[in-house]
Amino acid sequence: TSASTKLPFQAEVAQLLHLVTHSLYSNKEIFLRELISNASDACDKLRFEAINDGGLYEDAPNLEVRVTFDKAARTLTIADNGIGLSKQEAIDNLGTIAKSGTKDFMSKLSGDQKADAQLIGQFGVGFYSGFIVADKITVESRRAGMVAGEGVRWVSGGAGDFEVETIERPQRGTSVTLHLREDADDYLNAWKLKQVIGKYSDHISLPILMEKEEWKEGENDQPGDMVKTGEWEPVNKASALWTRAKKDITPEQYSEFYKTISHDYEAPLAWSHNRVEGSTEYTQLLFIPSKAPMDLWNRDKSAGLKLYVKRVFIMDDAEALLPSYLRFVKGVIDSADLPLNVSRELLQESRDVKAIREGSTKRVLAMLEDMANKAAAAAAPAASSDEVTDVVDKKEEAAAETNSEDAGKYAKFYAEFGAVLKEGLGEDFGNRDRIAKLLRFASSTSDTVSVGLADYKARMKEGQEAIYYITADTLAAAKNSPQLELFKKKGIEVLLMTDRVDEWALSYLHEFDGTPLQSVAKGAVDLGTLQDEEEKKAAEVAAETFKPVLERLKEALKDKAEDVRVTTRLVDSPACLVVKDGGMSTQLARMLKQAGQ
Ligand code: ADP
Ligand code: MG
Repeated sequence: TSASTKLPFQAEVAQLLHLVTHSLYSNKEIFLRELISNASDACDKLRFEAINDGGLYEDAPNLEVRVTFDKAARTLTIADNGIGLSKQEAIDNLGTIAKSGTKDFMSKLSGDQKADAQLIGQFGVGFYSGFIVADKITVESRRAGMVAGEGVRWVSGGAGDFEVETIERPQRGTSVTLHLREDADDYLNAWKLKQVIGKYSDHISLPILMEKEEWKEGENDQPGDMVKTGEWEPVNKASALWTRAKKDITPEQYSEFYKTISHDYEAPLAWSHNRVEGSTEYTQLLFIPSKAPMDLWNRDKSAGLKLYVKRVFIMDDAEALLPSYLRFVKGVIDSADLPLNVSRELLQESRDVKAIREGSTKRVLAMLEDMANKAAAAAAPAASSDEVTDVVDKKEEAAAETNSEDAGKYAKFYAEFGAVLKEGLGEDFGNRDRIAKLLRFASSTSDTVSVGLADYKARMKEGQEAIYYITADTLAAAKNSPQLELFKKKGIEVLLMTDRVDEWALSYLHEFDGTPLQSVAKGAVDLGTLQDEEEKKAAEVAAETFKPVLERLKEALKDKAEDVRVTTRLVDSPACLVVKDGGMSTQLARMLKQAGQ
């Protein structure tokens, strides 16, 4: 045993700890979920490393978590026999935050406790959540494969620093001991602990054990007490949630499972759970979150899918399992076919993975279509209620009355993830039509982002040959664009696109359901039969009359404009800028300029 070393926390950790202890009071009990999920992760990691080195199991092949408490000492301990931590790992992993986006997250904190608590919830504080209920945490650990003399003790009061020392520790794995604060007495009670574990950790695939207690009769007329019996019993179901039958899983259990794997505090918007059979067999459990994570725009951090092979955890963030435009989806894929030693590189080439990817993509699109259909059915109850056929979850189907909650779901989804979904137009040609159907826009007749291309088509004027749209930085700019004047006058709806990706995404969508998409800001707008003969005549006459003027304008603007024309597209404004057909729009040009290109 060596002397202990005092080390400072990384600045972000110190800041986070301050917030944890000051802002997360309203939801104390989540610390237990976080610590048990870490214990479960550690066992997953051991199982994974042991695929190539069975010796790591030592003499304890049964992986488990034990939760104990000591009333007199006021401590609560969560112990696992998973992979454990070396001293250096304890320093690195319990003293810093490796998560991507940490800095970004910190910069968003406002100092307003309520708002920050929500943010923190989204970010997930993991191990540090122990400090919600503890004023001191002791971690003792030994990494699998290391000798007993290379154990580590890590202690911190949750302020600026922590201490580490080398200890003797025969048993493999980690025990986290919380020295509970005065107001955390609740957790010195077996009943309470079982209740919280049942709520948050029932789906954990490992047994979570607690020592059985017995009622002891009081002596000399004193009230009795609970005494420990030395016998251990599991307090969770200990079977991975996705391996159970759908009918045996409650919505609350799905929701808690989602929260554990996603580190989200909010319930998911929708989920889909299926066993896929055929040439490639796998189980998929996919969730659509209700809120976008902070790193949604980081395309490198793709797909929140965990890959298991025959219930053995293989890897997080398996990006090969879903295309990048669906990176907001969280969940689990458990394959019956892949080899246990599959690597990221192998995943890219596997035919089974290709099948899983296609199947999961279709499933997600079906979930979205289901939400969109429910929203449509609620908007027009009589007309389209029979459209709600493609319901993903059979159990949900039974309860598929369109209530207002269902109706709002798609709008909620779209506000958070619509812009990401659009990337699919350029990324997933095979599903382009399905993706296009899922898109929603504001329009000259609807301020809310709710108009689908199919709705638009259904409302097209007789003789209208294209779906018209305009891109702009803001809704106001789009609505007030002079290029819209003629369309307004003729009562033709124009889609207003204000997302940064619209321009790019739309360049992949030339038509929808046989109707071309046409920017009103490009080239000469030919309204075909919608244009009066008289108007055309007038324009021709004007072009002739104004020829000298046009020549002089062209000369004056020769470095700035390619052409100057008489137009019929304006009603009130004297002039407007347009881009030649096939040219880069002003919007895209500006975006590229901003990006320094
Ligand atoms: P996350 O679980 O998201 O990685 P945490 O804050 O919960 O973040 O944990 C930080 C790190 O500490 C983990 O990634 C892991 O390396 C380590 N750790 C925490 N608990 C344990 C444990 N019981 N056994 C082994 N390592 C652990
Ligand atoms: Mg964790």
